[in-house]
Amino acid sequence: MFCASTFGWRRVRVDGGTLTLPRIGAPRVRVSWQERFAETPGVLKSPRRQQTIVPVLDFEIGGGEFITMAGPCSVETEFQLLATAHHVRRCGARILRGGAFKPRSSPYAFQGHGLEGLRMLARAREESGLAIVTEVMSECDVPMVAEYADILQIGTRNMENYALLEAAAQSGRPILLKRGMMATVADLFRSAQIILDNGNPNVLLCERGIRTFETATRNTFDVGAIALLKHISHLPVIADPSHAAGHRDLVPALARVSVAADADGLLVEVHPQPEKAWSDGEQSLDFAEFTAMMASLEPFLALRSPAVAEPAVPSMEAVG
Ligand code: PEP
Ligand code: MN
Repeated sequence: MFCASTFGWRRVRVDGGTLTLPRIGAPRVRVSWQERFAETPGVLKSPRRQQTIVPVLDFEIGGGEFITMAGPCSVETEFQLLATAHHVRRCGARILRGGAFKPRSSPYAFQGHGLEGLRMLARAREESGLAIVTEVMSECDVPMVAEYADILQIGTRNMENYALLEAAAQSGRPILLKRGMMATVADLFRSAQIILDNGNPNVLLCERGIRTFETATRNTFDVGAIALLKHISHLPVIADPSHAAGHRDLVPALARVSVAADADGLLVEVHPQPEKAWSDGEQSLDFAEFTAMMASLEPFLALRSPAVAEPAVPSMEAVG
């Protein structure tokens, strides 16, 4: 037997005594983001740290300028890389991407040119002025890759490889940390915290799609995670619409969604002849498609400019 009170609690009579329990439908206490991610305080915004700004060559990531990283999935030939570098630079990209060490599903697929690929990337930097981001897959390769790259990429398959994260962090290069394809935001934060704890503050969080029951797209682009990361973390957020979509037709729309969700930049695969690419051709944009995609971001970027973000009329609080 119990009697319900109007104050959200009910008293329940049990043998010889009473218990006080919350009434069904009573308001629940909301757990704050700080409590929810208390394990990784270093990645969360705090009164002292609202935004990390990562310096790269002569520009910054996280400082307000939207930064595009673009290039082929794999470094294939000098011609392919240089032609792509010049084109993406003309369209406004700041960073050239390209894999010299490739994690592949099949042991018989192209695994990358290794050191020769790194040398081609360095030559492309010299010719184009673009910074270089490239993946490092093993802690043994960190010193070599760090010698050539401006940003080290940790791929989705290695997000929880803590030995690699520690070695990459200690190289001192900024780290582009891709979200594991089966990783939660908490898992991503744990890996970012490892990098911070190893003395490297320059971490870029990358949403590249996660595995869900949907198979029409290669992965499911978790735009909610981008909004969440921007809301609670001070680390810059980079969106990778190419690996999320898996189909080039969908890449521009996901890129625009990333701008609207306030991402700090993009990682996009571009190839002079996607149908002949040695890896990820189906999701790579050709030059004309990349030009069009970059132009299509402009109105969305304009909406983010501080002048537009400021309220045009006094808020109700100010008036009241
Ligand atoms: C890539 O960037 O080419 C790549 C292999 O990415 P991911 O680790 O996200 O699959
Ligand atoms: Mn790829």
